[in-house]
Amino acid sequence: MKKFDPSTSIHDYLVFGEFGDVNPSITDSSTFTFLSTKTMEESFQHETEGCFLYSRHWNPINKFLSNALARLEDAEAAQVTSSGMGAISSTVLQICSAGDEIVSERTIYGGTYAFFKNFLPRLGITVKFVDMQKPEMVELAVTEKTKMIYAESISNPLLEITDIPAISRIAKAHNIKLVVDNTFSPMVISPLRLGADIVIHSMTKYINGSSDCVAGCICSSAEFINSLTDVNSGATMLLGPVLDSLRAASILKNLHTLHIRMRKHSENALYLAEEFEKLGIKVYYPGLKSNKQFALINELMNEGFGCSGMLAIDAGSYEKACKLMELMQNEKVGYLAVSLGYFKTLFSCPGHSTSSEIPEEEQKAMGLTEGLVRFSIGLDGDITIAAERIKKCMKTAGIL
Ligand code: PLP
Repeated sequence: MKKFDPSTSIHDYLVFGEFGDVNPSITDSSTFTFLSTKTMEESFQHETEGCFLYSRHWNPINKFLSNALARLEDAEAAQVTSSGMGAISSTVLQICSAGDEIVSERTIYGGTYAFFKNFLPRLGITVKFVDMQKPEMVELAVTEKTKMIYAESISNPLLEITDIPAISRIAKAHNIKLVVDNTFSPMVISPLRLGADIVIHSMTKYINGSSDCVAGCICSSAEFINSLTDVNSGATMLLGPVLDSLRAASILKNLHTLHIRMRKHSENALYLAEEFEKLGIKVYYPGLKSNKQFALINELMNEGFGCSGMLAIDAGSYEKACKLMELMQNEKVGYLAVSLGYFKTLFSCPGHSTSSEIPEEEQKAMGLTEGLVRFSIGLDGDITIAAERIKKCMKTAGIL
């Protein structure tokens, strides 16, 4: 397959502001005027070139950001949403109705897991959780009621890589949509090019990169994005998870530095992963040569952005993990906080935070240990300083 460079694709998207401004003008209106009643009526039936109806439907700045995101994912079209969960719930509800089934990876973000496990059954939608590392389990779980296969490209929090081409073959054979959450690996992995039908991001994370807002997006075919915004039946139009235009403008600016940030996050994460491994710590990082999925990620990833900035270690016990995290915050390694993709390092214990929605026995079955500490590695100019500080904290916490 021809190489794809998402950074050049975004770079080549030029939008001028109203007065030739280098950034597009920010839309500060919820509603828009029409010169003729005929065009207004038409806009309720389909998109009319150059016309905007109402900001929950579309507005210019959200459109510009969506176009740039479509370029990031090599998609025909995209739509921004007010959160990653807004993107996930809208996609699911656009595709699935009462009586339908979803086959989902079992190691996914806790909020998505809770939505699938606790909320969707109220609407008559059933989700089967499987070990996506074994594509044969996906095949076994699919029935004629299955409408969607759901996976994360790099799973949260165990950082397992989904073999998107293999899962896509199953989805295509059964005419099922493959939806991939690519929050952990923008630019690194391009799921649509590997066979996925829909890509979702929590832009709250790497794409925005400054932990100052919550936002999401959906990238797919023009047909699917148009269906979401249909005034009579579209999930985003009717459920209303619309992104505020001021935020869309700031995210668009941040998107243009994503390639540099991803490179640096990945470079720093690889350095730390190798240092931790030398110390004999159990490290989860797909970019490590010793990782069982090293060959797979090298096959799937785009060149030049590394393997992302997410890594996890096993501190041995929850007590040691807590001690380590408190010490690291005191030593200015970063913040004891959930979320990821921030310019500073963030760390948390998934079993007791972002994955706590997953029942304990299921956490055990998927290999999520009590002492697992997940790191989102920051953009530190000199990562060797953080490495030395973390080693000191590991010694004090009794891990080394
Ligand atoms: N997907 C993943 C992988 C996440 O980590 C998160 C949030 O942590 C979400 C989706 C949900 O995104 P948001 O918090 O923007 O709604």
